[in-house]
Order: sequence, then C-alpha cells, then structure tokens
Amino acid sequence: MLKRLALGCVMLAAALTASAQDYPSRTITIIVPFAAGGPTDTVARLVAQSMGKALGQVMIVENAGGAGGTIGVEKVAKGAKPDGYTLLLMHIGISTAPSLYRNLRFDPQKDLEPIGLITDVPMTFITRKDFPAKDMKELIAYVKANKDKVTYANAGVGAASHLCGMLLMTAMQTDVTTVPYKGTAPAMTDVLGGQVNFMCDQTTNTTPQIKGGKVKAYAVTTKQRLKTMPDVPTVDESGLKGFEVTVWHGIWAPHGTPKPIIDKLAKALQAALRDPAIVARFAELGTEPVPQEQATPAALGAHLKSEIAKWAPIIKKAGIYAD
Ligand code: ASP
Repeated sequence: MLKRLALGCVMLAAALTASAQDYPSRTITIIVPFAAGGPTDTVARLVAQSMGKALGQVMIVENAGGAGGTIGVEKVAKGAKPDGYTLLLMHIGISTAPSLYRNLRFDPQKDLEPIGLITDVPMTFITRKDFPAKDMKELIAYVKANKDKVTYANAGVGAASHLCGMLLMTAMQTDVTTVPYKGTAPAMTDVLGGQVNFMCDQTTNTTPQIKGGKVKAYAVTTKQRLKTMPDVPTVDESGLKGFEVTVWHGIWAPHGTPKPIIDKLAKALQAALRDPAIVARFAELGTEPVPQEQATPAALGAHLKSEIAKWAPIIKKAGIYAD
C-alpha cells in the first residue's frame, strides 16, 4: 500500500515535470476582470501578443467584469486549474479589495502565484467636452456646489477609477453619487453621451479621447505632467497638494502552478516588456514598461504585500465598504 502510494507520488511528480517541460503546448487564456476595450483590456491585449510570441503559443484575453474586478480575480484565484493555461491580469485594485470588501472570497497573497509587474499607468480627470467647468479648480468648485446632482462614473468598488474618485472626494470633503460600470470602456460611452458627469480614468483609455478632442481633460494624477499631454496640469498644481495615484498592473497564475511554469512565464513577460512594439504603444498611451527586475515573481509579491499595507488605513479612514 505504502509502496503503491510512493510510486503514485513519483509518477505524479514526473507528469508535472513533463508538463512543465512541454509548457506551453496549447492556447493560454488571460482573464481581465473588466470590460473589453477598457484600460486593463488594452494592457492585457498588448502583453498577450508579445508574451505569446516569446512563448511560441497564442495567448487570448477573456473579459470577466463586475464588482470592481473581484469577480474576475475570484475566477482565477478559486476556479482555475494551476496548470499555467489560465492567468490573471489585474491592477492596484487587487491590493485595495481586501480592505474594501467585507466578504471577499479570495486572498490575493495565498490564492495566487505572482509572475511579475507590468506597468504603472497615470490617470486623468475627464468630462464630456462641453461640461461647464474650464479647469480642475472650477471642476472642484462645480462639484462642491452641485453635489446633489453631479454623478461620478467608475468601474465598481475597488476599481482604479473608484479609488481615484474616493481620494478626490476625501480631499474635497464632498461626496457625490457614483455610477458603477463593468469597466471604464462602457463608463466612457456614458461620459461622452452625457449620461454621467465625470470620471478619473487611466491614460491607457483616455488618451485617444483626449487627443481626439472628444472629452475635456482637467488634470493628471501624477506628480509631474505627462509628455503625451503637456498642456494638462497635475491635480497637485491645481490646488489639491500631494494628490497622486497611479495604477500598477501585474500578472498572476493560480496558487500551486509549478515553479518551472511560473519561471517560463516571467521570462516571457520580461521579453514582452522589451518588445519595441509594446514600448512604443505604451509611450503613446502615457505609460512605460516597468524595469526588467520588477517583472519578476519576487518583485510583484513584495509590491502586493506593501500595497495592501499602504491602502488599508487610507480606506479605513474613508470608511468605504462593500459586501
Ligand atoms: N481598469 C478598469 C477597466 O479596465 C477600470 C478601472 O479600474 O477603473 O475598465
């Protein structure tokens, strides 16, 4: 009996090693926990193409939006096989969800294996182009004066757009009605259509709309102005001193994915982030790949830990919770 068990273990270990050696032998799916066509989707599709090239396999993106991204994260953290064929691409929201959600059904540090960081994306405050406020100061004054009727679009509690809005409302000491979407792609449609008033969204989504004159950009959320939109001031310059938020992204596999597979994926991620096509597209969208040493499991693991610790007291102070 014991012998048979031992033999079984040896065979299982051999099978895992063999599958890690052959990996990847079929299409890999990256789950994006937000709607198609939005900022996370844009980053994921670029990364999928280049990582796929490096791995010699097709990588596809599947959108699983809802509940600020927590539905899609749970899908990978709790529902996916740890075989390297289902991955998760998520952002800063994975570090705020543990503080925001009372009944989160996953632990991002225990249920996922980090692969590496990808990029850190600036955000922008935008409205439809004929909104009655000409700059960020006026926008803040308008929101304060009309707080009962102004609406703010976001991608649900825990999304980057939610986090940025929460920081603004805390800084302004004014709350407005928030309207949640499955991602900022559908939210953008409603901002353009005037169904909802304003939004803070990533440059990976807003740059084409700003450049095309379709929306009004009030301020960027970085310390410095952006090369891609030098005329747009920072929020800090516009009167809210110290206001800063950027959206880091990472890629994960389900917990238990064999280390040789994680290592292959990390190498492919590093290769993708050196790909001139990604570097150029990221630059057009106001961002850049992280340095190579951050596109590693250790760097993402450490970053997630420190971000969870950083956001917990800020969220507690804001007093925002979801179930
Ligand atoms: N990243 C989300 C999206 O792709 C939006 C957000 O987090 O605010 O739609």
